[in-house]
Amino acid sequence: MTTNNSLNSKGSALVFATNNAHKLSEVRQILGDRFEVVGLADIGCHEDIPENAETLEGNAIEKARYVKEHYGLDCFADDTGLEVAALGGAPGVHTARYAELFGSGITHDSDANMKLLLNNLEKKSDRSARFRTVIALIYQGDEYLFEGICEGEIVAERHGTEGFGYDPVFRPKGYDRCFAEMTADEKNAISHRGRATQKLAEFLKDK
Ligand code: IMP
Repeated sequence: MTTNNSLNSKGSALVFATNNAHKLSEVRQILGDRFEVVGLADIGCHEDIPENAETLEGNAIEKARYVKEHYGLDCFADDTGLEVAALGGAPGVHTARYAELFGSGITHDSDANMKLLLNNLEKKSDRSARFRTVIALIYQGDEYLFEGICEGEIVAERHGTEGFGYDPVFRPKGYDRCFAEMTADEKNAISHRGRATQKLAEFLKDK
């Protein structure tokens, strides 16, 4: 762990509860160099942090509390869901494991997830959907939540090869391209995670 580099002006380390290098660099870019954010590997956390809650908020808080309790460090954690209106908000908190839990049983597979989603929407005229990210922050003994939403719709066929997850089938409102047809910078500027991270950055600005 790069202890010295992870100190802010008040001497506290700030951990992002993720092992995803892509997310880490995205968040570091938005937060700037005031805080040097470290990932789970940097603090020697290699266990699978439980995510058993029934809401995005619950999962984000659960992960942040886990780090605080086990490592004693200030921390933030995120959770994202795709909420589709015609499906009553599903897959929601089950977005990552949609096909595993409700379809083919294939685990953590974007292709299977999108296939199930498109099948379930086949006869629906309302294709509106949104991505929602919740970031939970534990900072100097208090807990905070930040939410980022990106409204859009689920298109009938996949488009594009960029990004990950459901990007080929999600078209943000006001755009004629899906996330998977955008550059990373274009997507980050309007994405759910980008927006939630901007709010976190705004909060941390004066800390
Ligand atoms: P996580 O909470 O960031 O791990 O997101 C949960 C699941 O939502 C991921 O496994 C992806 O399937 C999906 N997801 C999250 N963010 C995005 C995105 O920006 N584009 C497409 N899919 C996403």
